[in-house]
Amino acid sequence: MSTMPHLDLKASCDCGAVTLSAIGTAISMFQCACLNCQKVSGSGHSSVVLLPNDAVRLVGATKSTARPADSGATFTRHFCPECGTTLYAQSSRAPAFRILPVGLFAGQNDWFAPNQLIFARSHCAWDLVDDALPRHDAYRPDKST
Ligand SMILES: [Zn+2]
Ligand SMILES: [Zn+2]
Repeated sequence: MSTMPHLDLKASCDCGAVTLSAIGTAISMFQCACLNCQKVSGSGHSSVVLLPNDAVRLVGATKSTARPADSGATFTRHFCPECGTTLYAQSSRAPAFRILPVGLFAGQNDWFAPNQLIFARSHCAWDLVDDALPRHDAYRPDKST
C-alpha cells in the first residue's frame, strides 16, 4: 500500500465566502467518473481525497443537497450558497470521513496521486485518465485503499 500524504492546507470556495482547513493524513485519493461527478465537476470525472472528519474545519455558511447513491446510501454534497463551489461530500455509509474535491486546493495540490478510477463504466474515452490506473466498474472493491 502506498503512503498517503499528510495535508496541512487552507482553501476557499471560488468567491471566498467559505474557507476551509485540512490538517490530517489522507485516507484515499481517486478519480470518479460517475454521472453525478460528471455533472457536478462539469468534466469527465472528479478527483477527490478522503479525509477523516476531524481533519476538516469549515468557516462560513454552507448549503447541502442529498441524493440516493447507487449503493443505497445517502450522498450529501455541501457547497457554498453564494458561488456553488463544492466544499465536501459525505456518504451515510461512511460517516467517519469527508470527500473533498482536489481542485479546491488549486495551486497547492501537487501531492495528489490517485490510486484508482471508480465508476469506469460511465467513463468517457475523451476524458484522458492514466492507463496505468486500476479501473473499477463501480465502487472501490477494497475500501481500505
Ligand atoms: Zn463561494
Ligand atoms: Zn462520482
